[in-house]
Amino acid sequence: MSDGLAFISVDHPPVNALSLTVRQGLARAIAAANADPLVDGLILRTIGKTFIAGADIKELQQGMHLQSPTVRDIQDMIEAGKPSVAAIHGSALGGGLELALTCTFRVGLPDATVGLPEVKLGLLPGAGGTQRLTRLCGPRVALDVILSGRRLDAKEASDLGIFDAIVTDTHEAPARFLRDRLAAGDVPPPILERSHAIANVDAAIFTDARTNNRKRARGRLAPDAIVDCIEAACRLPGAEGVAFERAQFDALQGGEQNRALAYAFFAERDAAKALGSNPAPALEVARAGIVGGGLMGSGIAVALANAGIDVILVDVDQDATSAAQQRIAQIHAGAVARGAMSDAARHAAQNHIHFHTDYRSFSSCDLVIEAAPERMAIKESIFARLGEVTPAHAILASNTSSLDIDRMAAASNHPSRVIGLHFFSPAHVMKLVEVVRSGASSPEALSTGMALARRLGKVAVLAGNCDGFIANRSLQFYTGQAEFLMEQGASPEQIDHVAEAFGMPMGPVAMRDMAGLDVAALVRSVRARTLPPEERLSPLIEKMVEAGRLGQKSGAGFYRYEGRKRITDPEALAIIQAAARELGIRQRSFTDEEIRDRLFLPIINEGAREIEEDIALRASDIDVAWVNGYGFPAHRGGPMYWGEQTGLDRVVAMAERLGAELGPRWQPSALLRHVAASGGEWSRTLGGKD
Ligand code: NAD
Repeated sequence: MSDGLAFISVDHPPVNALSLTVRQGLARAIAAANADPLVDGLILRTIGKTFIAGADIKELQQGMHLQSPTVRDIQDMIEAGKPSVAAIHGSALGGGLELALTCTFRVGLPDATVGLPEVKLGLLPGAGGTQRLTRLCGPRVALDVILSGRRLDAKEASDLGIFDAIVTDTHEAPARFLRDRLAAGDVPPPILERSHAIANVDAAIFTDARTNNRKRARGRLAPDAIVDCIEAACRLPGAEGVAFERAQFDALQGGEQNRALAYAFFAERDAAKALGSNPAPALEVARAGIVGGGLMGSGIAVALANAGIDVILVDVDQDATSAAQQRIAQIHAGAVARGAMSDAARHAAQNHIHFHTDYRSFSSCDLVIEAAPERMAIKESIFARLGEVTPAHAILASNTSSLDIDRMAAASNHPSRVIGLHFFSPAHVMKLVEVVRSGASSPEALSTGMALARRLGKVAVLAGNCDGFIANRSLQFYTGQAEFLMEQGASPEQIDHVAEAFGMPMGPVAMRDMAGLDVAALVRSVRARTLPPEERLSPLIEKMVEAGRLGQKSGAGFYRYEGRKRITDPEALAIIQAAARELGIRQRSFTDEEIRDRLFLPIINEGAREIEEDIALRASDIDVAWVNGYGFPAHRGGPMYWGEQTGLDRVVAMAERLGAELGPRWQPSALLRHVAASGGEWSRTLGGKD
């Protein structure tokens, strides 16, 4: 205590999560301060690297958050007690911010961040966050902050009125702040009793928010519940609003989506630990090289430069480097136009990128990523050259989607330094990076790949070396089914509709059109050579290409396009029907459920095969790859988790049917059969492996 102010300091490493012991300590300290006649006000602060970072997720899953004192009990004590200030450094997220919102004032250090990220776990802020933020900042701000779950920095928190001041420390400065307010008699009522921000609300903002949810949330329940709560905050008295929010929270908590999203959260954490608890030290990458500034090389250059890494980009000649420079400028211009990047940040990033045509410019690089055309002869000659010109410590990575990393490693003459770093298109946007282990990759090379991906804000998954690695390898079975379904009579529209209603951002047929059917045909011509003799690929893509239909870029593929709008095209349907006749297939109609199972169940069978062959370390890594690489709906956990939830027996039955019809690659894998027969849970059956 000092001068009539009580300091309550939470010290619970690593992140001061609101565990039961923290709540018990808070309850004791607040009760003592409230009962002490010498205390005029209290300051809630934390020791360590952060404010209260949120609820304790492990306790949430075990139901321990319901043991008293609950967060809500503590909030009641603060709100009913003496004037208070939350002094925030580090981050105040979720329950941490909700607790701070029960204080009379909030002040933050310039490096502080705040946010209510519950939506990411399929929840809503259930400790009054929707009600108090709405009453403090108005519904428009609350909708933005709570629906996005994004973090706000101190300046924005202050501009929006969440912080009453930005301060230089969490001791003297908040004390001075509170004393001044007490002296001036300037102490507002608790936020739940304030109504200025909810006067004259335009009801249209809620209609708009729900419309946006339909477009963006793709089947998630929490976003609409959040809108309901914020709307309730505008019309109900404070206590009733809190009760309304509680009911909505309880309906979501522990539900299917909440469980799947929590699973996805931990799956990502596990993927990051793929190299074990004590991985080899990663190399510090100050300067990175890129070979080839085409579509992928340019995107990767942007990702690196935006993270403050110097980039040396080498392409074949001046024209090619100019084209790369232009592509990069366009990406940055788009980011600035969207408000996602400041002009200063754009300049800084562009200054990091240097264009060359001579491989010797790689002589000072710590890592080089090859993103040249997908042909082994080209890759081998590039790796041979990289082996000559790069320093002895440099890691050499390929962005290949399907070619053998071992062959590139051999060509380099330094196989231990070679890994795959497989980015997804557009590389500056998509979160997934597969870090591919060759037969000889050193632990340091793999650690460096994983650490680099993290530094770029990506999600890294460790993969074994095979055609397609984890993601593309299983994707083939999904897109392959889309083609077989079309041969059998399902329309592109119905297939895409089913996939999109399931939660995919874009159906498999439209996705093909967008990526270009000529590109797909090229990859398939290589793949066709390694197919078992009794198997076939559907000829539909080649038929479309023969008809000059290359997808969106040529205005027509499986659909016709007006700009980006896809339109059902009788001509495309006629090509599909003619192909079916040639193949002797009698077309029929499909239910949506049949289509859903045909698209998604084969992914799970192939995923099991990837685990069998050590391409994927565990089922959850395949889920992380699908969620972050293809936008598989995280509220369904990922294909492997979804399969487990809906029953692996169904996956086996589907694989038996498809295997009989289409050949050995579609037949049930031994691991799938084993897991399905022994409890149907990947993690339990795989024991130490998962
Ligand atoms: P691209 O054709 O757009 O770009 C290739 C670039 O490499 C061109 O700028 C070309 O001039 C340059 N190049 C060719 N030979 C070179 C050499 N010897 N030295 C230096 N530069 C050379 O190709 P892309 O789509 O960016 O694909 C690049 C790689 O990324 C391929 O291995 C591809 O499989 C992989 N990939 C592509 C995607 C995708 O969606 N396009 C996604 C993931 C991975």
